[in-house]
Amino acid sequence: SESGNTYYRVVLIGEQGVGKSTLANIFAGVPDSVDGDCDMLGENTYERNLMVDGESATLILIDMWENKAQDNWIREQCMQVGDAYLIVYSITDRASFEKASELRIQLRRARQTDNIPIILVGNKSDLVRCREVSVSEGRACAVVFDCKFIETSAAVQHNVKELFEGIVRQVRLRRDSK
Ligand code: GDP
Ligand code: MG
Repeated sequence: SESGNTYYRVVLIGEQGVGKSTLANIFAGVPDSVDGDCDMLGENTYERNLMVDGESATLILIDMWENKAQDNWIREQCMQVGDAYLIVYSITDRASFEKASELRIQLRRARQTDNIPIILVGNKSDLVRCREVSVSEGRACAVVFDCKFIETSAAVQHNVKELFEGIVRQVRLRRDSK
């Protein structure tokens, strides 16, 4: 096993209101978290060390998609800098699910040669009565996207830890297969 620490830049993308910042705040709110060092990307960047499968990894989580949404430069940077992406939609908002597909296509265009790890995240799974997107639709979409899928609830902190551990595993898998 490796002794050196590894840094992974993970970028949150998705429609406004789906819960990206709430997920980022949970990530950042755990003890040991510090606000980020990523000068270029400014303040909505969080850094945390995670132990996953006995190996240490430092996740740099970038939640810039919404900030300065009018500034396309920020979004272009987001599309370029990630080692991995969390494409988030809300299970209570079909439009956000459709937006996720658009973002997947944009990402593929922006990073044509890279085999980037992605997790499709159906957030707000606690809102069972308002569900507009079924679990099987989410899963099917992830198959088309060639990515992993998870449903989370930032509100009740369900599957949030699993999400961040999962993205570390995905980056490692793709690196190890190179
Ligand atoms: P962003 O625009 O994607 O960053 O979304 P926010 O994190 O700002 O969340 C938008 C709204 O959804 C806020 O009122 C959150 O409290 C709420 N929210 C976020 N995640 C969840 C969740 O898992 N369940 C529920 N019920 N509400 C959530
Ligand atoms: Mg936000």
